[in-house]
Amino acid sequence: MPVPVRADLAELPDYIIPSQVPGAILLNSNEAPLPPPPSVVEAITRAAAEGHRYPMWFSDALVSRLAERLGVPEPWITVGCGSVSLCQQLIQAFCAPGDEVVCAWRSFEAYPVFASVAGVAVRAVPLDAEHRHDLDAMLAAITPATRVVFVCNPNNPTGTAVGSDALLRFLDKVPSDVLVILDEAYGEFVTDPDVPDGIPLALEHENIAVLRTFSKAYGLAGVRIGYCVAAPPVTAAAAKVGVPFAVSRLAQAAALAALAHGDEVRQRCEVVVRERERVHAALLATGHQLPPSQANFLWLPLGERSAEFSGHCADHGVMVRAFASDGVRVTVGSPEENNAFLRAAQSFATARRIRQVL
Ligand SMILES: *Cc1c(COP(=O)(O)O)cnc(C)c1O
Repeated sequence: MPVPVRADLAELPDYIIPSQVPGAILLNSNEAPLPPPPSVVEAITRAAAEGHRYPMWFSDALVSRLAERLGVPEPWITVGCGSVSLCQQLIQAFCAPGDEVVCAWRSFEAYPVFASVAGVAVRAVPLDAEHRHDLDAMLAAITPATRVVFVCNPNNPTGTAVGSDALLRFLDKVPSDVLVILDEAYGEFVTDPDVPDGIPLALEHENIAVLRTFSKAYGLAGVRIGYCVAAPPVTAAAAKVGVPFAVSRLAQAAALAALAHGDEVRQRCEVVVRERERVHAALLATGHQLPPSQANFLWLPLGERSAEFSGHCADHGVMVRAFASDGVRVTVGSPEENNAFLRAAQSFATARRIRQVL
């Protein structure tokens, strides 16, 4: 007889593993189009030479550099094996079975999975008609059992962002014993001056945890490192439930080296943002309807046509990410990659028009 697995795990959706087809253009995981700069790769190589030693438990050197950089005291920072790991740690530290988590939907798929694994109920609040967080409805979904609310800003997969006024009004009304996790995985791509930086907010509110990552803007998705900025009782609780030594020596060295390349990171983000606006405009011109994006991806709310569209792109060598019958998320890649995607999107529109005529 097989060893029985926890019965409720069968009900959890499996993660959809994005395909990494060799030779295909990968616009399905919101990765950076370019590899890390050579000096970051060198730092990783140097750290590998000390691979027989455990890493620093609390990533002390990185924490101190981040503290300086962000202008927050060191106890306000904790580092994790990617910021998804920090999402899970925060749920484990603040929620017990029977508690509730509120998040928007669609939003990042990891939130409901981590909550369910922890035995925590999820109240998923539909996005508004413009694919944005409906903060009033999220407030209304908070009950005495709610311990955590996720605000993904900008939101994955729609790219939409909440502005300062709306967020501040929301934060004022969230009970002070509910933790608001402000997931800023794409914060470096924000160009709308009305979208707030979460860190000053975290310094003013003891119930806010801001999550940042080196996976997207810094191009280190394969290295696995992110961090949380929150009041010391929050970071201490998150650290307490973390897997010991989960942040490798290589990851710590990579993040430290990447921070020394602020200018290059900013330039690379600017290129992505220019391309984002170019691809957005080109898709509008093709007849697509899509919300403006503040992230490094675009959202095509194609509904029932989502799978057909992503299949068509795959046939043209471009991998994009379809989300059931909601829409398709397309990462902004290099100009050449984006052109290949736009050609696929154009031929999809043409093929549909021909089918409609026939
Ligand atoms: C990519 C992403 C993360 C970060 O992932 P890590 O690679 O684990 O740092 C966190 N939140 C959202 C919404 C993301 O899209």
